[in-house]
Amino acid sequence: MKKHFLLSSISLVTILLSISCSMSKDSSANQKTCQQPTNIILMIGDGMSTPQVYAAMLTSENPTSFERFPFTGLAKTYSKSHKITDSAAGGTAIATGHKTNNGMIGMDSDSIPVPSVLEILSEKGMKTGVIATSYITHATPASFVAKNINRNNYEEIAMNFAKSNKVDLLIGGGRKHFNQRQDGVNLIEQMVSEGWNYYDTLINIKESDKTMILASEGHLPSYPSRGNFLPDATVLALEKLSGSENGFFLMIEGSQIDFAAHNCDSTYLVNELHDFDNTINKVLDFAEKDGNTLVIVTADHETGGLTMIDTNGRYTETFFKFSTGSHSPLMVPVFAFGPGSENFTGIMENTDIVKKIYQLLECNHN
Ligand code: MG
Ligand code: ZN
Repeated sequence: MKKHFLLSSISLVTILLSISCSMSKDSSANQKTCQQPTNIILMIGDGMSTPQVYAAMLTSENPTSFERFPFTGLAKTYSKSHKITDSAAGGTAIATGHKTNNGMIGMDSDSIPVPSVLEILSEKGMKTGVIATSYITHATPASFVAKNINRNNYEEIAMNFAKSNKVDLLIGGGRKHFNQRQDGVNLIEQMVSEGWNYYDTLINIKESDKTMILASEGHLPSYPSRGNFLPDATVLALEKLSGSENGFFLMIEGSQIDFAAHNCDSTYLVNELHDFDNTINKVLDFAEKDGNTLVIVTADHETGGLTMIDTNGRYTETFFKFSTGSHSPLMVPVFAFGPGSENFTGIMENTDIVKKIYQLLECNHN
C-alpha cells in the first residue's frame, strides 16, 4: 500500500514535469525556462531570512556574495503541521518538494518516504555531495539522504547514510553517531570495508569515488574557531565533484547561523553569516568560470525573530535585537545564479524550489 502511494506520487511528478515541459516547448516566450544546467549547487543558511542577510551586509566591509545574484525570490516556509517550521520539515520541503510535519525527515506527512533531489539526480548519473558544519546526521543534511519519522533518531539516520548508494561525498561533524553507537556497530569501519574512503580531517583527501570526512565527534566548533572549514570543504568538494561526466549535485549548509540565533548571540550570528558569505563567494567564483552551474541559496526558516532597531531615535544607529530564541514564520529569500536562474523569482512555496530544478533538468530531454 505504502509502496503504491510512493510510486503514484513519483509518476504524478513525472506527468506534471512532462506537461509543464511540453507547454514551455510550445511557447517561444517560455524558452528561457529550458536553459539546462549541468551542475546544481543548493546552499541552505539554516535560520537565515532577510534580516540575517541584511545583518551580513551591515557588518561587511565589502559587498556581500548575496549582491552577486541576478535573480531573487521569496519562499513561504510553513510546514504541514505547524505555522512555524523546524529544520526537519523545512529541509524535507526543500529536498523533496513535500510539505511534511515538523520533526520528520525525508517523508511526507503520512510517514511515506519520498525521494530527495539528491537521490533523484544520483539516479540520473550525477555525482552527489552534502556538506554541513553541524552533525552530518542533523535535520538539514539528513533531509537529503535519510528517511526517519523523528529527526532525533541520529543513530538510525547515520545508518541511512551508511546504507545510501546515492551519496558520493559527505563532509561534516557527528562522528559519534557512526562509531559510538548504542548498537555497538562501527559504521565507519563498515563503510570503509564497503569501499568508502574515510578521513577525520579535511586534509589528506585523495581522488576516489566515495568519501566521508567527519571532522568532529559532535557539531563542528563555531566560526572562527573551526577556521575556514566550510569554504575549504566547499572548494575541495567542487574539485572532486566537477570531474564528474554527468554533472553533480551539491548541498552546502551554513548550519550554525541557526545555532547563533537560538542563543540570541549577535557576534556568533555575524561570524557565521560571514563564513557562509565567504563560502557562497567561492561557489559563485566556480559557477562563473564553469558557466553550466545553477546556484541556489535559500533557507529553511528564520531563527531569532531578528530585527534592527533604532537605538537613539534619530535613525543613525542600529542594534541587532532578537525577538525570540525560537524560529519565526518569516518568508526566506531565494537567490539564483546560472542557467535557469531566471525561474526562481516571485513568491513561491519552499517545495517549489526543487520542482523548478526538476523542470530545468527535464526540458532539454524532450
Ligand atoms: Mg540545519
Ligand atoms: Zn533552529
